[in-house]
Amino acid sequence: MTDHTILVGYGRVGRIIGTALRKRNERFLVIESSDALVTELREANIEVIAGNAAQPDVLTAANLTQTKYIIIAIPEAFEAGQVVRQARTASPKSQIIARAHSDAEVEHLNSLGADKVIMGEREIARGMIEDFTARQSQNPDQA
Ligand code: AMP
Repeated sequence: MTDHTILVGYGRVGRIIGTALRKRNERFLVIESSDALVTELREANIEVIAGNAAQPDVLTAANLTQTKYIIIAIPEAFEAGQVVRQARTASPKSQIIARAHSDAEVEHLNSLGADKVIMGEREIARGMIEDFTARQSQNPDQA
């Protein structure tokens, strides 16, 4: 593939992203280390490379130098950082979106060259505040 999107991880987070990419007919491939998920992806006719995305040969197989977007949806920030570092070097113009679980991880991934880092816990809090606010406005007596 060229001018494609690489989606790293197809667990709870990655599969939601993958479904959205598929609906939009985006050209993408997945890197996934779980054998069971690799089988599921192949059965669904989704292009997948089996292996640890932090390993250079796995990223090379995904044609990293020709990619436009890299979405790193794995929970472990050290491995995500290894992917960001290699992607930034091999594909300086690509857009890198990564996942984190703490402010320190956000900082780490930004410092390695991620263009956007989404912190899961912050997004959960945002959703809960939104829901809380909506409920208060629907039930002003309980506010
Ligand atoms: P979740 O936390 O539920 O979104 O799942 C994360 C997914 O990422 C799982 O399916 C893991 O198998 C996958 N994963 C974690 N680390 C790596 C890695 N280094 N390379 C490829 N896939 C990974």
